[in-house]
Amino acid sequence: MLEIKNLVAEIDGKRILNGLDLTVQDGEVAAIMGPNGSGKSTLSYVIAGKEDYEVLEGEVLLDGENILEMAPDERAAAGLFLAFQYPLEIPGVATMTFLKSALNAQRKARGEEELSTPDFMRRVYGAADKLEIEREMLKRALNVGFSGGEKKRMEILQMALLEPRFCVLDETDSGLDIDALRIVAEGVNALRDPKRSFLVITHYQRLLNHIVPDTVHVMSQGRIVRSGGKELALELEASGYAEYRSAEAA
Ligand code: ADP
Ligand code: MG
Ligand code: MG
Repeated sequence: MLEIKNLVAEIDGKRILNGLDLTVQDGEVAAIMGPNGSGKSTLSYVIAGKEDYEVLEGEVLLDGENILEMAPDERAAAGLFLAFQYPLEIPGVATMTFLKSALNAQRKARGEEELSTPDFMRRVYGAADKLEIEREMLKRALNVGFSGGEKKRMEILQMALLEPRFCVLDETDSGLDIDALRIVAEGVNALRDPKRSFLVITHYQRLLNHIVPDTVHVMSQGRIVRSGGKELALELEASGYAEYRSAEAA
C-alpha cells in the first residue's frame, strides 16, 4: 500500500536521502532504525510535505497515488498521519477546538458531513479515556506546557480520531517515561488494523518491545541498507550501529 521508490531529497543543498526504497503492506507495522543523522526524520518530513525539503527523484505511492504531488492537507485527507519528535505547540487554540477543526477539515476533504458537537464530544471523550487523558487537558491550548508524555498521548488521540490509513511515528519514544511509553504503545496497538499500516521510526529498540513490528529496516546515509523481521531490532540493540555509521562520522 505504501511504496517508496528511489527517493532522493535534499535540504539547503545537502543531499540527505540517497535513493531510498521501501514497501509497507496493508496492516503491516514497519520499524525504521538507524544511527543519528542517517535521515530518518528527513524521510518523515518529506512524506509529510514539509517545506524546505526538495525532492529530486523518486516517488511515494499511497494506494498507487504519488503523495509527493499533493499539498500537505491533501495528504492528510488521503489518509496519512504523522506524529513528530517535537510536536507543534499552538498557543491560544484550545485542544478541543484544534481536534474538531482537524477532524472536520478531513471529513470535508473526503466529501463527508461535519460531525455534530455531541457526536464529536462522544468520540473525543471515548478516545481520551482510553489514553488516560484528563478532560481538563482538552481545554488547554494544544501542547502548550504539556509534558513530553502528555504531548505524545495527545498525538495518539489525534491519530485515533482521524482514523488514518498510514501512520508515521518519528521517535515517539524519546523523552517518555515507562508509563507514558506503555500508554502510547497500547494506543498504537489498539489502532492496528488489517487496513492500516505504521512506519515506526526509532533510534532505540525499547519502543519495539511494546509495539512489536512485522518488519525492521536499517537506515544509513539516506538509504535502507538492511531489512528483516522483528529479531533484527534485538540484534541491533546488542551490536549497536557501529557498522552502519556514516563515513563522515567514522
Ligand atoms: P535522523 O533523524 O536519522 O537523526 P535527520 O533526518 O534528522 O536524521 O538528519 C539527517 C542529516 O541531515 C543530518 O546529517 C543532519 O545534520 C542533516 N540536516 C538536517 N537538517 C538540515 C539542514 N537544514 N541543512 C543541512 N543539513 C541538515
Ligand atoms: Mg536525530
Ligand atoms: Mg530524527
